[in-house]
Amino acid sequence: MKLSNESILDPGFLKLVDFMGGDAAVVQAARVSVGKGLTTEERDRKLVHFLLENRHETPFEHAVFKFHIKCPIFVARQWFRHRMSSYNEISGRYTEMKEEFYLPRSLRAQKGKNYLYTEIEAELNNRLLRQIEDFYNQAFQLYRDLLQQGVAREHARIVLPLALYTEFYWTVNARSLMNFLGLRLDPHAQWEIRQYAEAAEQIFQDLMPWSHEIFIKMQRGRSA
Ligand SMILES: Cc1cc2nc3c(=O)[nH]c(=O)nc-3n(C[C@H](O)[C@H](O)[C@H](O)COP(=O)(O)OP(=O)(O)OC[C@H]3O[C@@H](n4cnc5c(N)ncnc54)[C@H](O)[C@@H]3O)c2cc1C
Repeated sequence: MKLSNESILDPGFLKLVDFMGGDAAVVQAARVSVGKGLTTEERDRKLVHFLLENRHETPFEHAVFKFHIKCPIFVARQWFRHRMSSYNEISGRYTEMKEEFYLPRSLRAQKGKNYLYTEIEAELNNRLLRQIEDFYNQAFQLYRDLLQQGVAREHARIVLPLALYTEFYWTVNARSLMNFLGLRLDPHAQWEIRQYAEAAEQIFQDLMPWSHEIFIKMQRGRSA
């Protein structure tokens, strides 16, 4: 069982820090309404499926994941839109930012409509990536200069690009995690956040296999 992925958009990562509950917690929470608990594995598994299929989703709130994540700020901005969870993020006021920027291997070109992309020709791609890297270096040099000249960290950071890495803790229950995964595993979601969603899905599958199997079945039904 792999409870962390330490090579997402290198040097990014997603690590499970803590976990409470599981499929059994979902079953227990659902059966409390009839004064019962766990029964046989097969019946409990069927109940988990029944609950999700029929949108009785509150029992899934009793399984909780705490993740430590490192990702570019533009990914974190998309992530933080998922309000039904808790966040604490490294502070650019209390710490100096590290010189770590996300540089894609290849840039995507817009192909007409939103969500349609194509590859950029190799030579142009390499030239543009070099320009981007130069810009990162200049921006970080300016950040350092501002700090050296006595500018407060909270102001110096305003020159840093969205590609800079940030870190945060994310505590999310299984109900909200499934909402996140449904939206961020979708091909319409940006490739970069999808890499993190895939890592989180793997952990969800390992720790809550019954919930995961019905979640995936329903996702496939939606996209069919
Ligand atoms: C492909 C993609 C493109 C996107 N593009 C944009 C964009 O261009 N601009 C933009 O602003 N956002 C964009 N978003 C973000 C999107 O609008 C949601 O904010 C984000 O996906 C979080 O979803 P959520 O509200 O379901 O999650 P959560 O905030 O975790 O909420 C979970 C659920 O709780 C309920 N809920 C939460 N808050 C409320 C509330 N105030 N009232 C009623 N019910 C509530 C809803 O049922 C909701 O589904 C995009 C998301 C995706 C996946």
